[in-house]
Amino acid sequence: MSSYEEHSLRKNLFSIGKLGYAKGDRPNVDCILCGVRDKNEIVPNLTIAETELSIVSVNLFPYNPGHIIIFPKRHIIHYLELTEAEALDIHRLTQKTMRILEKQWKVQGFNIGYNLGKNSGGSIPHIHEHIVPRFPNEAGFLDVLSNTRIVIYEPYQMWEDLKKIWTNEPEIV
Ligand SMILES: [Zn+2]
Repeated sequence: MSSYEEHSLRKNLFSIGKLGYAKGDRPNVDCILCGVRDKNEIVPNLTIAETELSIVSVNLFPYNPGHIIIFPKRHIIHYLELTEAEALDIHRLTQKTMRILEKQWKVQGFNIGYNLGKNSGGSIPHIHEHIVPRFPNEAGFLDVLSNTRIVIYEPYQMWEDLKKIWTNEPEIV
């Protein structure tokens, strides 16, 4: 595939042209997620919701449409540093996120987890949970999504829609 074809494909999938950050312009900050928390204007901010302890955000580099991350506001690196209150908060936000994705985009499968420490594949030390929706035939996920009410595969569009849906969705107690 030529680089032009590759560029076109990626543009179709994610409107990559909008994402300066995705092209390698990493913001010059100590921690991207602390930058999101502090609303640092040089850090792309796709925050869907926040509580006193945690933040829910669309992943700027989605593995799949609807890829969400949830992280504690405190800059912690090790899972063992999570307090019970933070873990419970992240758990509740995870359930709400799953419920919304199941309801809105008919998601039937998820991978949920953390990449922690060296050799884990993690790229940002600030601990964050990934929620990755899985689709029946991912090579054809555009077809899958086009059968649903809304077609979403661009992070900023996903962010706009999820912010609205989140506000209207009741809290899990
Ligand atoms: Zn941080």
